[in-house]
Amino acid sequence: MGPLPSGTPPKDMAVFAVVTGVNHRVAGFGYRGGSLFERREFSMAGTLVRHPRGNLLIDTGFGRNIDQQFRSLPVIFRSITSYSLWQPAADQLRAAGYNPKSLHAILLTHSHWDHVSGLPDFPGVPVWVTPQEHEFIRESGDMDFCRLFIGIRYEEYDFEGGPYLGFPASHDVYGDGSIVVVPAPGHTPGSVIIFVTLPSGTRYAFVGDLVYQLEGITLREERPWLVRREADTDAEGNRENLLRMVALKERLPELIIVPAHDMRAFSHIPTLSPPGRAGTRIGDNN
Ligand SMILES: [Zn+2]
Ligand SMILES: [Zn+2]
Repeated sequence: MGPLPSGTPPKDMAVFAVVTGVNHRVAGFGYRGGSLFERREFSMAGTLVRHPRGNLLIDTGFGRNIDQQFRSLPVIFRSITSYSLWQPAADQLRAAGYNPKSLHAILLTHSHWDHVSGLPDFPGVPVWVTPQEHEFIRESGDMDFCRLFIGIRYEEYDFEGGPYLGFPASHDVYGDGSIVVVPAPGHTPGSVIIFVTLPSGTRYAFVGDLVYQLEGITLREERPWLVRREADTDAEGNRENLLRMVALKERLPELIIVPAHDMRAFSHIPTLSPPGRAGTRIGDNN
């Protein structure tokens, strides 16, 4: 895997959890062998990355129109899914003093419904996708909302950089090693993992839906067969990338892996606070 990649993250860089709501699930939905009786709240979330060259939002979680959007999903999926909307990302940003329109871009881990629901709440903000995911969006699967949206500015990027932490290619967003995207196809054709390194040396891996819950990595357990069959376009490819992450976590135990739907992972990230208030953490008291 080689030496750790170097980087010079700017000193006023930061990340903030933007948990917009939850899906009410059980552990067994998230990973093979998980209990069907252990209730789990699956986070529906974005993450704000503050960077002096431009703030990015990784995924949006639930947006303002989730109730209406949800009705467009397949009836079988709706019958096994119940959710609670807390506060859409755009409203959380605004409450914390960020103008949602001033975001530099939204960077998607992939284009499924629960990651893109908030896109229309950020009019004019470019949405960064790989060419493969852009194609997937154009094919308009029934588990994304992108077909419902008008006027979204998708911008494609490529993996011009070399291998990175065990992945074969990379895209260094600002050229300073602070935000590095790697391809991780499988769950969808253009799924990615986004590594964020802070000036403190804290390193996050935003893995999207590579796994639904952290046990996917810690116990090496992929999604249950039926969920895999329904949710992944290429379960084999997803497994390959999961094993890469397992190997990386063994090598870098301090790496904070953040599956989009694991509430526990977001407890390691400060939340947005209203202007003038210090950052708080979610999850500390429960
Ligand atoms: Zn997904
Ligand atoms: Zn998801």
